[in-house]
Amino acid sequence: MADVFTKEKRSEVMARIRSKDTKIEVLVRKWLFSHGYRFRKNDKRYPGKPDIVLPKYKIAIFVHGCFWHGHEDCKLATIPKTRTEFWVEKINKNLERDSANIESLRTMGWKVIILWECELRKNPELLLSNLVSQLH
Ligand SMILES: [Zn+2]
Repeated sequence: MADVFTKEKRSEVMARIRSKDTKIEVLVRKWLFSHGYRFRKNDKRYPGKPDIVLPKYKIAIFVHGCFWHGHEDCKLATIPKTRTEFWVEKINKNLERDSANIESLRTMGWKVIILWECELRKNPELLLSNLVSQLH
């Protein structure tokens, strides 16, 4: 099936998806920081290099872009109509890697919190205030 976008447009769209991931991470970090939480970002010492690590609470937070992390039943996670197989395989690999990382972190005694892009975009205030209740 043909893609709804041209090749050039498609890579533009994918690039935009990537930068959005980063934007929502920044949103969460800013919010945590302004509420007095101190954290490390993309700490390589932990499985999966969590986006945010709160060592004091032994909490790892992943801010997941819905597309790259295959959010179930999510509009933002729609697989492109070109190179569908490639994308399905890629996203499945990400999913496998994610669950292995989460498993390892939990085995190490860490609490893992996943924040989804779509929820952050819909109602960041609500999501972030719910986050606080999970931090203690
Ligand atoms: Zn989603």
